[in-house]
Amino acid sequence: MTGKVIIIGAGCVGTVIVHTLAQNADVFTDIMLASRTKSKCDLIAEDIKKKYGVNIKTAAVDADNVPELTSLLKEFKPELLINVALPYQDLHIMDACLAAGVNYLDTANYEPLDEAHFEYSWQWAYHERFKKAGLTAILGCGFDPGQTGVYTAYAAKHHFDEIHYLDIVDCNAGNHHKAFATNFNPEINIREITQKGRFYENGKWVETGSLELHQPITYPEIGPKESYLLYHEELESLVKNFPSIKRARFWMTFGQEYLTHLRVIQDIGMARIDEIEYNGVKIVPIQFLKAVLPNPQDLGENYTGWTSIGCRIKGLKDGKEKTYYIYNNCSHEEAYKETGMQGVSYTTGVPAMTGAYMFMTGKWSDAGVYNVEQFDPDPFMEKVAQSGLPWHEIINADLEL
Ligand code: NDP
Repeated sequence: MTGKVIIIGAGCVGTVIVHTLAQNADVFTDIMLASRTKSKCDLIAEDIKKKYGVNIKTAAVDADNVPELTSLLKEFKPELLINVALPYQDLHIMDACLAAGVNYLDTANYEPLDEAHFEYSWQWAYHERFKKAGLTAILGCGFDPGQTGVYTAYAAKHHFDEIHYLDIVDCNAGNHHKAFATNFNPEINIREITQKGRFYENGKWVETGSLELHQPITYPEIGPKESYLLYHEELESLVKNFPSIKRARFWMTFGQEYLTHLRVIQDIGMARIDEIEYNGVKIVPIQFLKAVLPNPQDLGENYTGWTSIGCRIKGLKDGKEKTYYIYNNCSHEEAYKETGMQGVSYTTGVPAMTGAYMFMTGKWSDAGVYNVEQFDPDPFMEKVAQSGLPWHEIINADLEL
């Protein structure tokens, strides 16, 4: 391995990844950051040089232009590409990786631009091509998806003979002191939250209205927070990879103020993803909304409080029922001090770096397309804890769910 890595996307998550790669410069010996807007890459590179004395190469690239990205990859010759552009780019970037012979890692599954719908089938369809090329693609290596899949694999390996019930619980108890802002790309965030809810039960997917099911859940050192059932992409791969699961659900907290804004945004048509004509110009309302909302990259400075994300699991060990809760609490303020970004970007970027570290050190490296839970969780758990996201376990307590 050469230690060469390229990151696509100089946004919130990309910034955290470059910081954490630079902190591991013994493994990541040559780092390039490429994105649509090169000036954003240059600003991050300057900051990294000041902070860690590490040189970051930068480049402009439109990742939807497969020949353009392929020639950049052929020129730089990285071992691994970390994709933290938007989910719309996933397939184009995987095509360029195959054309240039580069391994691949991302944090969000493919979503077509004109349909708010995401599923793994499009990316899983690349398995044979990656396998034949002797290349690895690691899918969904942020926090959720990502760390949540590794937590589940760790639970399956060390704590259960059979996992029966899985509830992923995601709480942001932070305060950015804005009336309304999203913690990552607003377009992707609003598309995700406004779609119908879905969970898995007894071999079938059960659909609910958008944010229809909710209940208070108590988060460690935070307390009870109203939590809403959402569909989230890791449910799809986890029920496939752990077939003993009878029910799998995903819960996320939202404050009343956030939900009121979201309802108004939807009611007045600003969450629309189709093109409309305005003064002779074609615009997509949700993209216009993104342009006027606070930039998630600027939220970090005044962000206080914690995120708390984990897996609550029930199942069998040695013939007896067992419950297990594994989670991380992350401080927005500490994340900002380290990387200039808030906790949501931090908790995504650190697992992405850790997955890249697993690949570069030969611990996660089978040829083909894989979700994170298909690899050995142990070296990942050790590295991620050392890298800023320690985890905690609570055994045989009431899971509330
Ligand atoms: P941002 O919007 O902050 O950053 C996206 C970056 O990608 C921007 O710099 C943007 O460029 C760049 N980009 C967009 N389109 C292209 C293109 N065609 N070619 C090259 N670069 C492009 O998003 P985030 O950093 O918040 O999120 C990044 C990814 O992380 C998303 O896919 C998101 O879904 C995922 N995510 C995953 C999480 C997890 O836990 N698994 C949690 C949070 C996010 P420009 O600056 O010019 O617009």
